[in-house]
Amino acid sequence: MAVELLLATSSVHKLTEMRRLIMAAGLELTVLGLSDVAGYPEPVEDGDSFVDNAIIKAQTGLAASGLPTLADDSGLCVDVLNGMPGVRSARWAGGHGDDQENLDLLLRQIDDVAPNRRGAHYSCAMALAMPGGLEAVEGQIDGRLLMSRRGTGGFGYDPIFVPSSQDLTFAEMTAEQKDAFSHRGRALRAIMPALALLAATASN
Ligand code: IMP
Repeated sequence: MAVELLLATSSVHKLTEMRRLIMAAGLELTVLGLSDVAGYPEPVEDGDSFVDNAIIKAQTGLAASGLPTLADDSGLCVDVLNGMPGVRSARWAGGHGDDQENLDLLLRQIDDVAPNRRGAHYSCAMALAMPGGLEAVEGQIDGRLLMSRRGTGGFGYDPIFVPSSQDLTFAEMTAEQKDAFSHRGRALRAIMPALALLAATASN
C-alpha cells in the first residue's frame, strides 16, 4: 500500500504545483491536502527564514494528522528592497494572500528603478516532517522584474518575474516550463531522495 503524504499548504496554486512535481517523479505516495485531514490549526508563521517557517508548517501537519507532512515556505526577494518582501511576500499589501494588491504595491515601490537594477530571486524552502525525522532544503531562482504585468499563468508575482537568461515571465510559461526553472521545482527535486526513502518504507 502506498504511504500517505500530507501537503500542508492552504494555497491552491502551491498545492497544484507540489502535487504535479511529486506525480512527475512517479513515487508511490498517496498525496493528501489539508482538506483531507481534520484539525490542522493554521500555525503562526513567525520564523525569520523560509526554512524556519516551512518547518513550523510541516511539524504542525505531522502533529495534527500523524502523517508524514511536506510543507513549503516561499517568497520573492527584491535586490533594491534589501531582500523584501521575502518571508512577508504573501501579506506585503496587508491582507494575507491578495496576489493582485501585493503585486500592485511592489510595482509602485519600484516604478522608478532602472531595468539594470531590477534584480530579484524567488526562494522556496521545503520541510518534510516524519515521525522520528526532519529534512529541510531550499531552492532559489534568480531573475529580474518587469515594469508591468505580462502573461496570465502562475500566481503571485509571476507576471513580472523573468528568470535569468529567459525572455518569458513565469506567467507566460507553461506549467512544465515553470516547474523546470522554479524555486519550488528546485526545492522539490532537492528533497526527492527523502521522499523516495519515505515511499520505499511501504514495501519494507
Ligand atoms: P507563503 O504561503 O507564506 O509561503 O507565501 C508565499 C508567497 O510568496 C505567495 O503568496 C506569493 O506572494 C509568493 N510566491 C511564492 N512562490 C511563488 C511563485 O511561484 N510565484 C509567485 N509568487 C510566489
